[in-house]
Amino acid sequence: MAIEVHDGVAAEVGRIRVRRVLPRRKLRTVGAWCFADHMGPAEVTEESGLDVGPHPHTGLQTVTWLMDGAVLHRDSLGSEQLIRPGQVNLMTAGRGVVHSEEHTGTYRGTLQGVQLWVAQPEAHRHGDPAFDHHAGLPAVAWDGAEATLIAGEYLGARSPAGFATDLLGMQVQVAPGVTRFPLRTDFEHAVIALDGPLLVGAPGRDRAIAEPRTPTAPGQIAALGTGHAELEVQAREPVRLMLLGGVPFPEPVFMWWNFVARSADEVSGFYADWRDRGDRFGEVPSPLDRIPAPSPPWEPVRSTHPW
Ligand code: MN
Repeated sequence: MAIEVHDGVAAEVGRIRVRRVLPRRKLRTVGAWCFADHMGPAEVTEESGLDVGPHPHTGLQTVTWLMDGAVLHRDSLGSEQLIRPGQVNLMTAGRGVVHSEEHTGTYRGTLQGVQLWVAQPEAHRHGDPAFDHHAGLPAVAWDGAEATLIAGEYLGARSPAGFATDLLGMQVQVAPGVTRFPLRTDFEHAVIALDGPLLVGAPGRDRAIAEPRTPTAPGQIAALGTGHAELEVQAREPVRLMLLGGVPFPEPVFMWWNFVARSADEVSGFYADWRDRGDRFGEVPSPLDRIPAPSPPWEPVRSTHPW
């Protein structure tokens, strides 16, 4: 089968239940996309929401996308930004950054969104941290589908969000029936169903050989390798999905906790920098508590005995 469906795993981030669909054991990256949490839907109040206290990142860009609700972002660059549906918060970690994701003080209702990470390639991952908020993203419509372009280019539209590798990221609402997505054959792709079940398929080069479409649902990720010029998505009712794509990431990514690195030794250094409040990571003025890093499992337990 051209399409492989992987089950996500339930987790808690801050006070919100998430379904982590990337990375999976047999799906580490999709292009440079290396992490995807579908958060919520959950009910939040003015004083209690996502509420992830200050924590560090390295070697990645965080892409925060909301379907419902609002979140307040603060970071060690001094950024303070409310994000709403249809907008993107893009934080570039480079050598190191710290941020918090907080309740807004003003919003009460449903919170739902997708938290994505993009691995930075070697030439960029030691660079300066940055933060950008993109309130106006291009819309694309075809075949009854309506999409908002978060990353990359699609059908002539281009997202203003900047990435170091060739990527595609968009939220799409498909209409009932079959939607055909033209694809770049040098990209691998993945579909994350957000609010309803879908059937997904990749017609072969020889259209006479029909391949059955594969079912996928929220909490899963359906992955498609390179070499396909088209993706078919079938829905019974309007369904929102996230389509991710990109040129296969050529570097071996080593991810642990909030760090994207290349080796355990490198992560051990980041861990110590965060624990010891080293210069790599700044401070965030947040009412939430700083999140301590768990000790990496490969670190020897230091004996407190004198022998
Ligand atoms: Mn984060």
